Formats: sequence, C-alpha cells, structure tokens
Amino acid sequence: MRKNIVAGNWKMNTTVAEGVALAKEVNSAVAAAKPNCDVIVCVPFTHLVPVAEAIDTAILGLGAENCADHASGAYTGEVSASMVASTGAGYVILGHSERRQYYGETSEILRAKVALALENNLKPIFCIGEVLEQRENGTFFDVVRTQIEEGLFNLEASDFGKIVLAYEPVWAIGTGKTATAEQAQEIHAFIRGVIAGKYGEEVANNTTILYGGSCKPSNAAELFAKPDVDGGLIGGASLKCADFMGIVNAF
Ligand code: PEP
Repeated sequence: MRKNIVAGNWKMNTTVAEGVALAKEVNSAVAAAKPNCDVIVCVPFTHLVPVAEAIDTAILGLGAENCADHASGAYTGEVSASMVASTGAGYVILGHSERRQYYGETSEILRAKVALALENNLKPIFCIGEVLEQRENGTFFDVVRTQIEEGLFNLEASDFGKIVLAYEPVWAIGTGKTATAEQAQEIHAFIRGVIAGKYGEEVANNTTILYGGSCKPSNAAELFAKPDVDGGLIGGASLKCADFMGIVNAF
C-alpha cells in the first residue's frame, strides 16, 4: 500500500548554519515521535551535504528542491541529478509552481528532469496544480490532468511507481488560503482516477498523493483524514520545527 509522507519544502530560506540546526532539531523530534508517516526535508542545494551529515536519513529523508534537465556539461549554475544523489539525498521536488511560473519550466523540461532523477535513483516529488482563475472557471480538472499526462505519462508503470505526486493549488501556496478538505479529496480522487486510467488500479492505489498549500498544524488532521490525501508538501510551516511536527503528528 502507498506510504503517507510529510515533506518540507524550505524554498530559498535559511543560511547553512540555520538549516543544519533546523534539520537536526527535526531529526531529533521525528526520532522521538516515531510518526505514522515518512518525513522528508527538501532543502537548498548548498545545504544538502551538511544536512546529510547532520541527520540520519533513515529517520528523516532528504531531498533537493530542483535538479537540472541535462546530465552534465556546460550549463553554468545548474546542479545535476547525479550531483544531488551524490550528497546522500533520496528525493527531488520537480515542477513546483514557482519553477513553472518564474523559471519557465515546461512539461518537456520536466520530462527530462524526471528521467534524470529516476536514472540517479532519486524519487521525484512531482507538483501539479491550478491557478485561481482555473479553479474559478472550473477548468482545474483538465489543467491537472494535462500536467500529469504531459509530465509523467511517458513513463513505464515500473518507473511511475517511483513518483510521489503533490497536488498544490497555486492559489493556496503561501497565501494562508487552504483548499478545504472536501476540495482536496475531490481532486485527489480525480488524480488517482487519471492514474488508474493509464496504469491500472493497483498502481493508482500505490501512488502517494500529497496536498500542498498553506497546510498547518490546525488544518492538517482534517486534510489527512481524507482517504485520497496521503500527506502534505509543506512550505512556510516547515521552517519551524514545532509547526512542522504539528503537521507530522496529525497522522
Ligand atoms: C509549497 O510551496 O510547496 C507550499 C505548500 O507552500 P506553503 O505551505 O507555504 O503554502
């Protein structure tokens, strides 16, 4: 059966020293809490090596927030999937709405990143989600279906089985506005149906689908209680150990 996961996305926050201190605190808290879910922190590239050295990745999983769409070579400033994997990280967030929106990441680019992540044994946490206008005009089901089809449906079932999906409505990210638990369940069930249509019920039932967008200790339990919500991708609230653990302990 699929795993429940709570993953932090630190974005472009914390110095190395602050990040290492936060990761150590979360690692100790997870070790003590023995939660009913896997817990992961996705951190800036500069933090991967020192955080990997400071935590036990069997207790607290480690991921990057992005990787390059090329394997190696003359791509100044880029960080490849193999470089990420060589730090000890096991995960990589791909297709976050901030990358799609501010850095022009298309489905074509994302397909290349997913392939490279998988080749390097990194588990992609692949983000999808609509903007407010698409929620309001009712096209959000089509938008999300297209993002999944274009970004992931080139994969064989065995590779698709390594993907964690994160449904993140863009209107809820960092805004304090959360999708209701009913809205989350409705679209998560739809996403699982889209996966079942392509890969069958078993693969769909084994796929972890996270919710992301202003998830916090006060709303996590209600969201996670829904049958198709398998955890959360957490931005702002992952930057304070107590808040992040409040969400982890919602399971
Ligand atoms: C995110 O950016 O992945 C996210 C969910 O952010 P926040 O929790 O701050 O809305």
